[in-house]
Amino acid sequence: MKRLIITIDGPAGTGKSTAARLLASRLELPFLDTGAMYRAVAWRCLQNGAAFDDEPQVVQQAQQIHFEFSGNRLLIDGDDPGDELRSDEVSQSASVIATLPAVREVLVEQQRKLAGEYSLVSEGRDQGTVVFPQAECKFFLTASAEVRAERRWNDLCEQNPKLSKEMILEEIQQRDERDQTRKAAPLKPAGDAIIIDNSEKTREEVVNLLVEYVHRATK
Ligand code: C5P
Repeated sequence: MKRLIITIDGPAGTGKSTAARLLASRLELPFLDTGAMYRAVAWRCLQNGAAFDDEPQVVQQAQQIHFEFSGNRLLIDGDDPGDELRSDEVSQSASVIATLPAVREVLVEQQRKLAGEYSLVSEGRDQGTVVFPQAECKFFLTASAEVRAERRWNDLCEQNPKLSKEMILEEIQQRDERDQTRKAAPLKPAGDAIIIDNSEKTREEVVNLLVEYVHRATK
């Protein structure tokens, strides 16, 4: 069978990871969560006291991490750190180290290596524009910042009752601004991406729509 690459990009909190995971499972393809790679680098910098604005130091941290697939999970030095990568501190720090061009270079190379020659669903900010510009199906998911903040608050409020929707909205807006205005691989839809605003769509509706588009594109 011909290799099939599906990319899903978009801003924070659009449900990209869930949509990509469900799509990959429906199509029986591996799923690459590239945000987890940026998060892993930020997490390592926090653990090892590396300064986020010191590009060579951050590159060194990135180069020392071993990424591998186990089934559909991305392992970081042989482990799945789970929720540790999802904290607010790691989210914000990840979007800061993601502005560094040399760090992106290291991770882009790792992403292509992990993909090998296989078909896959890859999710992030630059998958359709930079990492896999040859992808057969490119999607860009969006939703209003308010809807994204509400969703993220629903996910986090039990763990952290001190978080308010306003705080999350502010963080999301800061991350959007950093992702969209950075010089290296700014967040934007590829010219040939299908843009889906899912502000008013359920998870199932989004996945059904993605499956439909993929089937149409690969007929
Ligand atoms: O998608 P997720 O929220 O896990 O990504 C964390 C951060 O990593 C994003 O805010 C973004 O700055 C960065 N990122 C990126 N390019 C990717 C994936 C994530 O710049 N392909």
